[in-house]
Amino acid sequence: MEICDIAVIGAGPAGCMAAIQGAKQGKKVVLIEKNKELGLKLLITGNGRCNFTNTASLDVFLKKFGKKGLFYRDVFNKFSNQDLMNFFRSNGLDFIEEEGGRIFPSTGKARSVVDMLYKILKEYKVKIIYNYRLEHLQKHSKIFKLISTNNQLITAYNVVLAPGGLTYKETGSSGDGYKISEALGHRITEIKPGGVPLTVREDWIPDLKGITLEDVGLSLQSGGRTIPLPRGNLLFTHFGVSGPIILDMSNMITDIIREHGDVKLYIDFKPDVKEQELENLLIADFRKYSKRSLKNYLKYHLPQNMVEHVLKVFSLDPDKKLNQITKKERASLQKIVKTLPITIHGHLPLNKAMITCGGVSKKEIDPRTMESKLVPGLYFAGEIIDGCAPSGGFNLQQAFSTGYVAGKSASS
Ligand SMILES: Cc1cc2nc3c(=O)[nH]c(=O)nc-3n(C[C@H](O)[C@H](O)[C@H](O)COP(=O)(O)OP(=O)(O)OC[C@H]3O[C@@H](n4cnc5c(N)ncnc54)[C@H](O)[C@@H]3O)c2cc1C
Repeated sequence: MEICDIAVIGAGPAGCMAAIQGAKQGKKVVLIEKNKELGLKLLITGNGRCNFTNTASLDVFLKKFGKKGLFYRDVFNKFSNQDLMNFFRSNGLDFIEEEGGRIFPSTGKARSVVDMLYKILKEYKVKIIYNYRLEHLQKHSKIFKLISTNNQLITAYNVVLAPGGLTYKETGSSGDGYKISEALGHRITEIKPGGVPLTVREDWIPDLKGITLEDVGLSLQSGGRTIPLPRGNLLFTHFGVSGPIILDMSNMITDIIREHGDVKLYIDFKPDVKEQELENLLIADFRKYSKRSLKNYLKYHLPQNMVEHVLKVFSLDPDKKLNQITKKERASLQKIVKTLPITIHGHLPLNKAMITCGGVSKKEIDPRTMESKLVPGLYFAGEIIDGCAPSGGFNLQQAFSTGYVAGKSASS
């Protein structure tokens, strides 16, 4: 049986990029995918529009990956966000920049990214083997033996392991890479969800499902500490809260819940107005619009479709006229506007997270080459590696950059 130069496991962004780089160096590359098509997860990224990178500086990129972000300095230097954008453009796919430096293909379709990768793989004659689920990976002297779930054998001198993490299993990333890596002696750090919607205790929150709060202030309270969060957009759902700011902060919030239990989240509908200013405003407005009902007044501070729900929760009569409101009721109203409390008690299952935090320990991977420090000839790329970043295109850049470096290193 012919031994290939490089076998790449997983045809996601990391694996496709690794296979392309290996083949570009003239190596005989096979790309192995358990699904019957490539890039299934890529297709759902960015709400089907694929936010594939960000214009942020290298320093910002490294910070986005948290404490161990420095691990990626070399990788992002070797294949930066600019390099990825150039790669897209030189392969006929233009892009646009949106809020927060997020970059999307100008077609507005993740499908065009998958099609582009497929076209390049074909151009470089990468052999793609579909419906092959790797089950065992072994190394005998200098050769890797790959065995699928239906006992199909492939042999290779080098292997790039890019099977993704453990979220949205229906796209193919079902955590196989962890077992395979462990069997080769690698340590898997704690697997946690990154970018996951949060569940709440209050039974009135599901009534607000579908309502988005734009640019609200947020803070947390846990164990007597108040932790300010960045401003952003929050979405109410049938189980709790989601939306960009919640997904980005979910990592930190779930860590706090794990340690201290329930967390109070406070929503500030008027983050630019101080408490005292709001009190003065309410007093003045109550005089000015004295004949107006509470529900008609509150809609100037809160989205109209949540006003009656919230008034009910705080036992305030929606039809009461402003000139009949007591001081105590006005204080409740002020609380609703500045510090509406919600009790977060957990998160949706890992499978509903955007990204897996945790994976193959970075300590066991050479940051210059992505090669295993334990098994020569084995390389890692993409989400299988420990750590994760918030949304914004950082995770896909990580997949493409680590794939680039792993593919190049495996061919040298
Ligand atoms: C809903 C959603 C939206 C997202 N949006 C964005 C976004 O807009 N921007 C961003 O930066 N990130 C986004 N992400 C994260 C991004 O999708 C991941 O970071 C990225 O897909 C990881 O790439 P990967 O190649 O490592 O893994 P994957 O894309 O998961 O690819 C791994 C591949 O390996 C295959 N595979 C797994 N096991 C085996 C096996 N045993 N044998 C053979 N093949 C196997 C899988 O079928 C799969 O095709 C999003 C994630 C989700 C879930």
